[in-house]
Amino acid sequence: MEFNKARNIIGLRVLSDNVIWLMVKDKSVVVVDPSVHEPVIRYLNENNFHLEAILQTHHHPDHIGGTKSLIERCPNVKVIASSKEKRRIPFQNISVEDGESLSILGEEVKIIEVLGHTSSHIAFFLNGENPVLFIGDTLFSGGCGRIFEGTYQQMYSSLERIKSLPKNTLIYCAHEYTKKNILWALNLRPEDQDIKNKLSEVEKKISLNELTIPFLLEEEMKINLFLRAKNLEEFTFLRANKDLWV
Ligand SMILES: [Zn+2]
Repeated sequence: MEFNKARNIIGLRVLSDNVIWLMVKDKSVVVVDPSVHEPVIRYLNENNFHLEAILQTHHHPDHIGGTKSLIERCPNVKVIASSKEKRRIPFQNISVEDGESLSILGEEVKIIEVLGHTSSHIAFFLNGENPVLFIGDTLFSGGCGRIFEGTYQQMYSSLERIKSLPKNTLIYCAHEYTKKNILWALNLRPEDQDIKNKLSEVEKKISLNELTIPFLLEEEMKINLFLRAKNLEEFTFLRANKDLWV
């Protein structure tokens, strides 16, 4: 379990490398991409908290797998998902679109569509003094999502959108892939001091059994080759190269 002190965001590690994020305010909780329900229910029960809303970034099973069971236990919960995904996220009861804002736990949450990993992937952005972005599988520390349904151009544009957010945005992705991604990046850029430093930092956190996520946009832009790509051509080369990396 990890804390963001400014926002009270907690990460639950589940499955092989997923992280379920829980944002807590007073006694209410918002959960992002609950791949499974048990640890979420346990956390709610242990603290006597109430589940206010479920945010879904996209339809993959390791993001929506726990949602049905959470709805059964918390029938009034809001389930917020892309209006384009009514078929693949059928239990949504608040359907949202790019650019829309809604109020969750008294905070304004803006919907940012980030296509590429899927044809309707969305992210949830909370602005203010300590901006936060729940990005699902679009960006990881040191990497980005695989392009399953979209195009290279869409994913490149999605990363450009992320780069236009405030540099102090803390980014919460859904997988702990950092070390693998950094090893890939170092293989391509073996002399890069920023990436080498990042590997040491990541290895230290892992040795302490800490999560390497969330990450700060400003720092990520120095070490993430996908964010550093100068044009679509370079991005496409990197993505294709990473797809072949084991
Ligand atoms: Zn996914």
